[in-house]
Amino acid sequence: MTRTTAIVTGAARGIGAAVAAQLAADGMAVAVLDLDESACKTTVDAIIAAGGTALAVGADVSDEAAVAAAVERVAAELGAPTVLVNNAGIIRDNLLFKMTTEDWDAVMNVHLRGAFLMTRAVQQHMVGAGFGRIVNLSSTSALGNRGQANYAAAKAGMQGFTKTLAIELGRFGVTANAIAPGFIETEMTAATAARMGMDFEEFKRVTAEQIPVNRTGTPQDIANTASFLVSAGAGFVSGQIIYVAGGPKD
Ligand code: NAP
Repeated sequence: MTRTTAIVTGAARGIGAAVAAQLAADGMAVAVLDLDESACKTTVDAIIAAGGTALAVGADVSDEAAVAAAVERVAAELGAPTVLVNNAGIIRDNLLFKMTTEDWDAVMNVHLRGAFLMTRAVQQHMVGAGFGRIVNLSSTSALGNRGQANYAAAKAGMQGFTKTLAIELGRFGVTANAIAPGFIETEMTAATAARMGMDFEEFKRVTAEQIPVNRTGTPQDIANTASFLVSAGAGFVSGQIIYVAGGPKD
């Protein structure tokens, strides 16, 4: 059997890095894509040290030409990508009355335009192969979150995008699902703690008290879920939003 090629965006650190490492451990050749190619080195080196295959790719997911070039390069160097994890993300939090148009546009561009451009570029390889797995990162913030009008709208948008991909691409053997994480310990949540003027450890402790499983999440929690959703055995799971939040969300 030929090896599956996966692309994970925003994989230099945080959730993306854990997903990339897990998919490589699952036997996939993984393109570790992030804004700065040199920033991908740590993730790539760790995968190679563990006996896996990985390629560092620098691209801004919101840049149409950069996305096209990145996907072409991955296909040429690792093989046609049939797994895509749209994970790249940013936050530009502020209450609505203080939110700038730039804050709004930046968040829309990375999450929604980025996922659209990446998916449109990769789907031809999936359709050609008659197999594909798309995983989009949403968030519990899609349900509404103070200070995150831009991010909540983008993450809710990811859910509609995911369901539509599932409907359009299902006949080609392609599934699309979204993971909506709750609180995951990364630089993104560390930045949230800093914005609120709280020590990160204290922020995690207070947050964990509100979570039914009584702990905050880790990037590996999301990597484990992604690993299942992109597996060959998950072919009848499509168009779903999986809340990975230590308890129910609706
Ligand atoms: P993170 O630690 O901030 O990592 C995000 C990565 O995405 C960074 O390496 C960043 O690069 C990269 N990136 C940003 N803009 C990009 C662009 N235009 N093109 C390519 N790469 C770009 O974030 P995380 O916490 O791992 O979050 C990963 C995903 O999960 C995001 O979509 C986030 O919204 C979602 N999520 C996270 C949580 C959580 O609790 N952490 C909860 C729910 C959902 P730079 O470092 O160069 O900026």
